[in-house]
This record gives sequence, C-alpha cells and structure tokens, in this order.
Amino acid sequence: MMDLNLKERISQHFLVAEVVKTCREDVDNTVINNARRLAETCLEPVRCRINRPLIVNSWYRSVKYNARVGGKRSSQHIRGEAVDIHLDADCWKIQLGELVPLFKHYADYDQLIVESSPTAHWLHVSHTERHANRHQYLRIKTH
Ligand SMILES: [Zn+2]
Repeated sequence: MMDLNLKERISQHFLVAEVVKTCREDVDNTVINNARRLAETCLEPVRCRINRPLIVNSWYRSVKYNARVGGKRSSQHIRGEAVDIHLDADCWKIQLGELVPLFKHYADYDQLIVESSPTAHWLHVSHTERHANRHQYLRIKTH
C-alpha cells in the first residue's frame, strides 16, 4: 500500500486528502498523477477566478469502493480522473449558474455533468490523458 501524505498539495489549492476523501484503498502514483492533471487543467483555472473554495464531495474511488456505491465500471473516478464538487450547501443553484459557464470557458474537461437528486446537487468534472478531452456537457437527474 502506498504511503499517503494527506497534507501534500497536488496543486495550488488542492490536497492529497481531498483526492482520497471517500476512499483510501489501492491508491497508486497513477491515481495521484491523474488527479493532479485534473486539478491543473480544470479545477485551478476556475478556483483561481472565483476565489472561493470548490468543495470536494468525492474524487478517487477504488474498483471495490466504486462497486459498493453503485458506480459504473467505466467510472473515471477509479483512475482519479473525475471529481464531484460543489461550492456551498447554501444558494447552491445560484452558484451553480456561475460555476458551469466558468468550467465551460476555462477548463479542458472530458465530461462536465450536473447531477441532481431530490436531495442533492453536484458537478462531476473529468479530465483524461488517454484520449482527446471531449468537452461533453450533460445534465443528469437521479432518483
Ligand atoms: Zn462523479
């Protein structure tokens, strides 16, 4: 098992602790490197402009953890290539309206997905080095 330094920065505003917030099993250097590229190409350009924290709900998921939470087997979370974030619990929809255009303009994303359930809303952002980033924007409602 890899020795994780949770306080280590992967970029200016994001820590290893945020990458492994919901899952610490089977983390390797590829996961950390993928997470760093996601932070640098997508999160930091937006974070620096809004000058407010982007709060991480979930980032890396091991294959086992992903299966337990019902994630797709192809989920980019497994590689550290995807993160789910929100700004604030309060006024979330208003803030989302600011956030989505900033990602569309400044982030080199593969997928940008607004996901909402009756009780929660979040933004899924991914970046990959495995193929050209698709700049795909989707809205998904889950029940
Ligand atoms: Zn996600």
